[in-house]
Amino acid sequence: MFPFYFDPTYVLLIPAILLAIYAQTRVQTTFNKYSQIPARSGMTGAEVAMALLNSNHIYDVNIEPVHGQLTDYYDPRRKTLNLSEGVYHSTSLAALGVTAHEVGHAIQHATGYAPLKVRSAIVPVANIGSNLAFPLLLLGIILGNQKVAFIGVAAFSLAVLFQLVTLPVEYNASNRAVEALEVGGYLERDEVHSARKVLNAAAMTYMASTLMAVLQLLRLLILSGAGNRRRD
Ligand SMILES: [Zn+2]
Repeated sequence: MFPFYFDPTYVLLIPAILLAIYAQTRVQTTFNKYSQIPARSGMTGAEVAMALLNSNHIYDVNIEPVHGQLTDYYDPRRKTLNLSEGVYHSTSLAALGVTAHEVGHAIQHATGYAPLKVRSAIVPVANIGSNLAFPLLLLGIILGNQKVAFIGVAAFSLAVLFQLVTLPVEYNASNRAVEALEVGGYLERDEVHSARKVLNAAAMTYMASTLMAVLQLLRLLILSGAGNRRRD
């Protein structure tokens, strides 16, 4: 009754799983390494966040510490810049890199950066799509109804689209971050290079998620075709 048992298409996901493990390891190691090295400017994540926001004429974003490690995010609805406690209070190169990246998202939001708008707009449909995809595909295969199976695949493609739109948003935030840190004089050139390494590692985790989504889509396409063959 469970058609995915012994499903050989799982093999397709292996490259994405390996990349995800590699990226996660790199994020941890680069973050830990550059968390030990204080920036010469001596400013904390929270101080740099405030300074960067103000120099971009953003005065309505609150900066708040949150629990956990690498849990930093910008919340566009509440207009809050959430910095993990280690980053909020830290003067390290890693902390300033992460801080400037999150400020990058706040600037994207304030300036109406198009990919961020698209991303926010497709969040709800992408969630519905990824929740419905597997049940529909399974139903299609069980009923031998390829149309239903393909609707499942189409639903999943919304989740893939979300991952794809996330990439420019993340890369752009990191590029803005690195530039702002150097132009503003918060980091010197050699320090910027180190902060960049942390952000590049983080970007790789988004690449891994996107690759996973694309390969999953490929896998679902194959499975939905298999549903058709079974009927013949
Ligand atoms: Zn980000």
